[in-house]
Formats: sequence, C-alpha cells, structure tokens
Amino acid sequence: MALLEVDHLSVTYTPRDQPANRAVHDVSFHLSEGEFVGLLGESGCGKSTLGNAVLRLLSPPAHITGGRVAFDGVDLTEADDEQLRKLRWVDLSTVFQSSMNSLNPVIRVQAQFADTFAAHKVPGDVTERATELLELVALDRRVLRAYPHELSGGMKQRVALALALALRPKLVLLDEPTTGLDVVVQRGILTRLAELRRELGFAVLFISHDLGTVLEMADRVMVMYGGEIVEDRPAAEMLREPRHPYTRGLLGSYADPRLPDVRVSYIPGRPPDLSRTHAGCLFTTRCPHAEDPCRTIHPDLLPDRGGLVRCLVAQENRLPVVTLGSAEAATVLGSHFPATGSLDRPADAADAAPVLTVERVSKRYTSRRGMRTNTVEAVRDASFALRPGRVTALVGQSGSGKSTLARLVTGVERPSSGEVRFTGEGGADVRVDRLRGRALRDYRRHVQMVFQDPFSALNPTRTIAYALSRPLANFAGLRGAAARERTAQLLESVGLSPAGQFLDKLPHQLSGGQRQRVVTARALAPEPRVLIADEPISMLDVSIRAEILELLGDLVRERRLAMLYITHDLLSARLLADEVLVLNQGTLVERGATREVIGSARDDYTRLLLDSIPNPFGKAAGQQTLPST
Ligand code: SF4
Repeated sequence: MALLEVDHLSVTYTPRDQPANRAVHDVSFHLSEGEFVGLLGESGCGKSTLGNAVLRLLSPPAHITGGRVAFDGVDLTEADDEQLRKLRWVDLSTVFQSSMNSLNPVIRVQAQFADTFAAHKVPGDVTERATELLELVALDRRVLRAYPHELSGGMKQRVALALALALRPKLVLLDEPTTGLDVVVQRGILTRLAELRRELGFAVLFISHDLGTVLEMADRVMVMYGGEIVEDRPAAEMLREPRHPYTRGLLGSYADPRLPDVRVSYIPGRPPDLSRTHAGCLFTTRCPHAEDPCRTIHPDLLPDRGGLVRCLVAQENRLPVVTLGSAEAATVLGSHFPATGSLDRPADAADAAPVLTVERVSKRYTSRRGMRTNTVEAVRDASFALRPGRVTALVGQSGSGKSTLARLVTGVERPSSGEVRFTGEGGADVRVDRLRGRALRDYRRHVQMVFQDPFSALNPTRTIAYALSRPLANFAGLRGAAARERTAQLLESVGLSPAGQFLDKLPHQLSGGQRQRVVTARALAPEPRVLIADEPISMLDVSIRAEILELLGDLVRERRLAMLYITHDLLSARLLADEVLVLNQGTLVERGATREVIGSARDDYTRLLLDSIPNPFGKAAGQQTLPST
C-alpha cells in the first residue's frame, strides 16, 4: 500500500469579488514509504496549493472540490480535527519556505522544541532530545540558547527541519525549503537532508520551482503546469530524456558556467489564466512544438516510457529526441526556445574611462553593549571601477558585504576610509563619499537601483503609469501628457509592448518577469549612467530568468550604462557580466574577466560558489553531486 495516495484531487479558489480559479485539477499520484518525490512548477502552477491540500491546511477561499487524499490508510479529506492532530507532526510533518520566519520570535530555540514535545507528550529530557535533533541537522547545541533573530536564515531553516523531524515522521513535506537562501547555504541544507533521509528512511514530497535542485535530489519528479501534472517519471529517466516540452524548457535554464560557451533558454509567455476555460493543451501558447490539434484537444496524462506524460505529440513519439548527459545538453534543449548566451553581446573596450571608481574603501560598523565595544569590518580595502557599456558582477554569499558596497556606491552610506569617485557632467570629478543634501540627491539621479523583489518594489495600489511618473517628475520635471508619453517609451524600451496595455494596470495584474521589467523601466527613468542591479532575478521563476538577463545586457550595451550586478549566482554572472569580483567576508578575493575567473577559478571560495550551483547535467553525466539516496 502506498504511504500517500492522491486520487483525482481538485482545488478551486472562489474569491468573493473575482472569478473562481481552478488551481489544482484532477491530480492523482502515489508516494511510497521512503520515496523522495519532487513536485515542480512555476509560481502559480498549483504546487503549493496541492501541498496544502495534502496537509488539509487550505483556508477559504480555497476548497477541495473533488477527489481524495489518503495517508497511511486514513482518508485525510474526511478526517476530523482530532485525527488530523494525531497525524500531523507525528507521521506527517512539514517545512515551509517561510518556516524560518515562523519560529516564535520571543522564545529561545530550546523552548520551541519543548513546546513541540509537550504538545505531543514526548517523554524524556528536552535538552538531550533537542541537542540530538540539532546534531542531526549539523547545528551546535549552543543554538538552543539563541532567539530566532540571532540566527542566520540557513540556521533557522535547519532548526525548522530539526523540529519537523522531532517525532520521526513517515513523510516530510518540504515546500520551497531553501528558496531565498544563498547557494552555498542551500547546498549545505540539501546535502544534510539527503543524508538524513538515507539514515532515517522517511519519505519526502519536495515542492520547488527549481528543477535543477529537485532532479539532483529526487527519486521521481512530477512536473505541474496550469494546475495539472504534465510529466511524472523517475528523475534518472527525466534527466536522460525529458518528454514534455515544458520540462525541456525548464531544463534549458540550466548550464555549467565553466563551459567555454554557455547558453540558457527561457520559456516565453505566461502560464494560463485558470479562471477561464481552455479547450486544448494548457501549454499551447508557449510550446515550440504546438500543432493544430493541441488547440482543441486537451491531452490526458498517459503512460510513456516508464513514466507519464500529458502531450499529444510526445505520446505519438514525434518530439525531437534529446539525450542528456552531454556538456551541450542545455544548448540542445534550449534550441527550441529563445536562448541567451554569454557570447551574444560584444562588450565595450575594457579600458574605457571609468564612470565610477571605488578606491581602497573600507567600512566598519561599531556597536556598544554596556562597556563593551564590538567592531565589524563589513568591507575591507575594496577597489574597482565601473565602465560605460560594461557589466561588473559582484559575487558572494549573504553577509559577504555586497549590499554594503552597493550602499557606499549609491551614497546611502559613507566609507570609514577610502574614496568613491564619480565622473560627472563635463568630466567633473565628484567625491561621492563627501556629498550631502542637494548634491547627493542630484548624484542619485545618475545611479539607480533595480531591486531584488519586484513584488514589493511596486506600490500594489498604484498603476504602472503612476510608478514611472514619480521619477520622471522628480528628476526630469515631466508631468501630465509629457510624463505619460515618456512612460510609454520607457515601457517599450524594456519590452512591455504595446505600452498602452500596461500603463493602467496594477502590479498584481502583471507576471513576475513583467514586474521586474517595470522596476527596470523605473530605474531608467532619470536616465542614469550607473545601474546597480541587486539580485534582480533571484525572486523570479527559473524559466524567465534568462529573459531578464538578456534585457539587462541589451540595455547596458544600447545605453552605455555601467552596471554593478550583485549576485550569489555565478551562472547568471557568467551570462551577463564582462568582469567578476568575488567578495568573501568583506574582502575581494578574486577578480578578472568573467570567463577566466569562472572557467579557471583560483580561489577556494570561488570554487565553493561554483560547486554549489544546481547542475542536473552533472548528475546525468555521472559527476559527483549530492550524496545518492
Ligand atoms: S500537446 Fe501540443 S501544445 Fe501541448 S505540450 Fe504537447 S506539443 Fe505542446
């Protein structure tokens, strides 16, 4: 008997003032004891709704509208609160992406364990049991004395994982457990998870948007699109030959940045609007292999080469054959989708005069507690220059000092020592670290930011036209019709065309990629000379990241912008940047032309960053990746 059985499950959202949204439609799958299954898909595909339905954690306006979920023989869709309470955490536990923020902020970690043990009447010494659990997730027992705010994001997520394993559950549901953490921390947690699962034998349902990571970890992978499962097969088979065009498109987003010619592809278009009825295949508008029948016939999920696939053309064996495992796999996969590559854009001369120079800059923060003074050196003796038409990537983990350097460049903070210089109009030499008041405001017009989170960077209650009109009024004095006309031009310049379709929309009516384009257009409004892009793609779905990188690269070349691209992801740095600076604990440890630094990294830290990038093709090619499970 399967541990978890999901049969014909459907979930619909019925908000009061909007049309009903069929988030999950007729989903069936089984999960066996000890099995590790990945559930993949873009934002809004229904994967988290499905996870919450399995746990019976849906709240209105979401409702299960059909089907059944059984766990260990118990029908969860019919179970009462008492039955659910007995199962949850004991046999069926969960770690959410936001688990790191769901720890109680006002009690120490030890008390969080004590609460869990008390709620489930676990006998024995709390400290001893909690210490054992922390050791499981490779945390020191001193963490027991800490409050959540004293821990890093990765440590909090490890505590959440330890709590989820506290009662030795049979199934752990992990919903984007490492999204938002940097690649090195993510790799550490996933490696430990794989080891634990081997030692303790629990089953895992791993929900993620990151196919690369899931393929490295899982025994079997289910890919969701538009609320349906479109492919379900063993991970090894999917790596050898993905059969659904959508899976192929997702895999095209990965590549080994060390290869001489790196290309990644993206899937154009948007997922279907599930509040409308669709006649044919839900992927038709984005599919490079769509044929006439795809527009009218809705494909069933049918057996196919040891798995299941929902594609009319694949079921007739008429898709082009793609065999993975070769170094060129990403290129082959990407050949049917729009692709961008690091060699597409000839860079400006590396010796052009700099627009902005950072010279021997250090930044120290001092805090006092009673008589004790604590000094942290966030940036140490950093020097670099930004040149027009070129992208400089600043690469490092969270806490390495990247954001501090960005604040020093924008003049938000002043260095403790060293100089930040900007070449102003007519070649004037401006000391940014000495600017104040109006002069500082004038300088900021030339240095604009593209933020990480396009969802919170825009006011949800204001239209796109309004968002762009603010910098136009503040920096260019444009108002009324003139501002609207310029706004339309800016939207067109970032690929939101025709602009008239976007001007009066609210942010929630746009996809993540479109929102990031709006944020980029807003940054371009004052016609800056320097653009600082702070992790601009890390909150976006993997399938559209390449599209935004391509846009940023084109803007840099066309407008001769100098860009500082801040990231922890060396693959995106490889695709976008002309040169790379690697920052470790406030010190620049390696620098040079992107291809040289990434192709033949000399510093151990750079190599660690490279090894932490999800690389499903490494597994396909038999390279060492995560421990096998
Ligand atoms: S059924 Fe047609 S549109 Fe749908 S994935 Fe297959 S080829 Fe593409």
